[in-house]
Amino acid sequence: MVSEDTELANDLLDTLIAHADECVGMGANMIGKPVRIIAFLNQETDKYEVMFNPEIVKQEQKYETEEGCLSLVGKRPATRYKKIKVKYQDFKGVWKFKTYQDFTAQIIQHEIDHTNGILI
Ligand SMILES: [Zn+2]
Repeated sequence: MVSEDTELANDLLDTLIAHADECVGMGANMIGKPVRIIAFLNQETDKYEVMFNPEIVKQEQKYETEEGCLSLVGKRPATRYKKIKVKYQDFKGVWKFKTYQDFTAQIIQHEIDHTNGILI
């Protein structure tokens, strides 16, 4: 990864941790940067993860839900998938694949939407 992206990812992580009581994930454009980086708290491991250029390559078990967002007031309806497989680059720029489910999968889908300019 280029160093400015790494720096930005660390800023994003710091911002997310600072808002841990109200927020479980953030996209870089939420701190004013139009790059495709997301940070989120993995609900299964209770650890923060960062992804560069994340892309959902497989999705299963569609459902309808409602979501809140730091960037919006109140809750909005959203269509999500219970299980997703994500392709992304890590801090070293290495492409990886990882499967997530349930709430963690929902957070990732929400944040990827942010990086694509979609608010829920
Ligand atoms: Zn949001």
